[in-house]
Amino acid sequence: MLRAIGYFIDSLNNDDFPAPQELVGADSRLAAVADYLDRGLVHERYRGYSWCRFSCGEQQMGSCDLTDGHWVWPEGLSHYLRVHSVRLPEEFVQHAISGAAAVAAPEAAQPDYSFWIEWARPQRSGSLRQRIDDARLEDVRLTNLARDETIAAALTKYGEGDSECIQSGCSRRSLSGMVFCAHHLPEMNLNERFRYHSIGLLFDALQGGRGDP
Ligand SMILES: [Zn+2]
Ligand SMILES: [Zn+2]
Repeated sequence: MLRAIGYFIDSLNNDDFPAPQELVGADSRLAAVADYLDRGLVHERYRGYSWCRFSCGEQQMGSCDLTDGHWVWPEGLSHYLRVHSVRLPEEFVQHAISGAAAVAAPEAAQPDYSFWIEWARPQRSGSLRQRIDDARLEDVRLTNLARDETIAAALTKYGEGDSECIQSGCSRRSLSGMVFCAHHLPEMNLNERFRYHSIGLLFDALQGGRGDP
């Protein structure tokens, strides 16, 4: 088992992980710990690249998990220590500054996130939680608004036909010349299509919300 550290919130719909903004603090050992993090060995590679939750413009956040044989962390974690003064659990800091050499972990070793989640819990911020809850509601509102506009546009464009929509349980009339109503036109793929803005809302929430200085 590898103890995971340094994993941060990545979606409005999953706030199990803390935001790095909640863990900022002074610690004279941050640079040494960041150097230790960079000496980790690649444990797993991903296709997507990570992004800095502080929106600082850093593009090189990496796409790997690194390990020292005991702990596992995202490749971009050292950036948060160096640039944003994000603190890590004391037990890991002690290990990092002890000078121990990193060893590879067995490939099958799975990260265990419970230590990290429990360590971060008492540091979580009520106001950030509130902003994320607000952003989630705004996401739903914007999604519904966009869906309503798309449905209205389809109705205007095609008009209603004479038959019933073939989607099971739907009693609306289909669009003229089609088998589905505007709500169920398969090519609209409504839910997928309107999810694009939720990462932007998460960014806003992490930076203090819209309208904050
Ligand atoms: Zn950054
Ligand atoms: Zn329908």
